[in-house]
Amino acid sequence: MKFYITTPIYYVNDIPHIGHSYTTVVADILARWKRLNNYDVFFLTGTDEHGTKIAQAAKEKGVAPYELCNQMSSKFKEAWQLLNISYTNFIRTTDNKHFESVEKIVQILFDKGLIFKKKYEGFYCVGCERFYVSKDLDENGCCFLHKTKPVLQSEENYFFRVSQFEGDLLERITNLNHKEHIQILPEERRNEIIGKLKLGLEDISISRTAIDWGIPLPFDKSQTVYVWIDALINYLTGIGFPKGEFKKYLPVDVHLMAKDILWFHSVIWPAILMGTDLDLPKKIYSHGFFTLNGNKMSKSLGNVISPEELVNKYGVDSARYLTVTLIPFGPDGDISWESLTLKYNTDLANNLGNLLSRTLKMAEKNFNNTIPQTIPDLSLVKQVGNIFKENFAYNMDNIALHKAAENLQSAITLVNQQIERDAPWKLAKTDKEKLAVSVYSYLQAIDLIAIHLLCFMPEIAQKIWFLAGASGDIQEIAKKYFNSFNIPDEGFSIVNAKLGNSEILFPRIS
Ligand SMILES: [Zn+2]
Repeated sequence: MKFYITTPIYYVNDIPHIGHSYTTVVADILARWKRLNNYDVFFLTGTDEHGTKIAQAAKEKGVAPYELCNQMSSKFKEAWQLLNISYTNFIRTTDNKHFESVEKIVQILFDKGLIFKKKYEGFYCVGCERFYVSKDLDENGCCFLHKTKPVLQSEENYFFRVSQFEGDLLERITNLNHKEHIQILPEERRNEIIGKLKLGLEDISISRTAIDWGIPLPFDKSQTVYVWIDALINYLTGIGFPKGEFKKYLPVDVHLMAKDILWFHSVIWPAILMGTDLDLPKKIYSHGFFTLNGNKMSKSLGNVISPEELVNKYGVDSARYLTVTLIPFGPDGDISWESLTLKYNTDLANNLGNLLSRTLKMAEKNFNNTIPQTIPDLSLVKQVGNIFKENFAYNMDNIALHKAAENLQSAITLVNQQIERDAPWKLAKTDKEKLAVSVYSYLQAIDLIAIHLLCFMPEIAQKIWFLAGASGDIQEIAKKYFNSFNIPDEGFSIVNAKLGNSEILFPRIS
């Protein structure tokens, strides 16, 4: 069983911000989840480095384009290292391997007669790196996104016969029973794509004459490959195309991206794959944009949240957790530092942190930091297990990470409520034996919570596993457990096991 997941490759004209982190952490959590489900996972991310925008930015800074790309690409690598992103490969479109792969693909399309030369005139927005027709522009003739007037460009370019795939694509997107069905999510964006497809597909220009910073066409070196075509092919280069075992990972299981680039992924990209007889992606899932306190985040407004800021404030694992659970995957969402901190304090400091510290303190005070000798009672951990059994896997598989996090919080709350009912601080004075049974049962429940926390907070989950005295490698135990969601008869930790010292994993933040 294999699982191939991608983020878009990020354009190096920008530095990493919460939008990039969001897609990447979601992909990382899914990759980790599938690994725990015994899939052979390929997780691809990287940077998109060609095109006019980069060439211009380099010129303004007085550096060579490749130098600028090196600097910017490193920033993404550093951000992903900081956030503990477990990618399989980080691709750069300036890699030699990628040149070979792009040349190969466009040559195949050319040889099959799917690429032809045509004189073209259109409005080119450098910001968007694409041509527009008048009806795509606002009343002043400006790009809706950039509010600048696109340049009227006329050149003889090579075109890709996308129109040829119109019917086939529509069939694959709309027919759920098609054996190469492409699932586009969320639903309303799928409908937009279908609506647009029904209006008809126009062949698209796939080369540029005036842009040097790109990959030359193998059959006409005076033109370079359009940056979008160049970028999409990364999903093949990244798994080793054209050599080796790249086919083993096709089709792509999930492409994740923000909504603004859904069209390219759900129409142009599948057309390229159809033209080259390669498998089509199974699922293309786009998410919305973030606003900060109701405002668009942008470099010029200076309100962009960076991964570093999040990590500095909340710690690595909490930053991961907050990034992906504050808003659902799909729609736009508004965030604020206040809402991030509120969620941190509610879910992590108060709920999870409190459960841990009070359980460990009880064991420390009454049982000398060991799991008490007692008759193992697994009823609490089984109740917790039922919360997860119902729909945790469904939520994870369907990228409803905010709901999976709700499952986690319900489980933690359930144990905290049980502690309130047991009032172990009273039992400590009256009934030591009953206290032992209770503490044992809390620890078992904490072990199970740690297992479910593993994809979200890999380091913290590991730490909790250790603190709660659970035995064995959490990764291996989680793999076994996720097979069936059955709790082993003996639980996850044994009596007399040594516990870690209680410590504050989530200090309250004001
Ligand atoms: Zn634009």
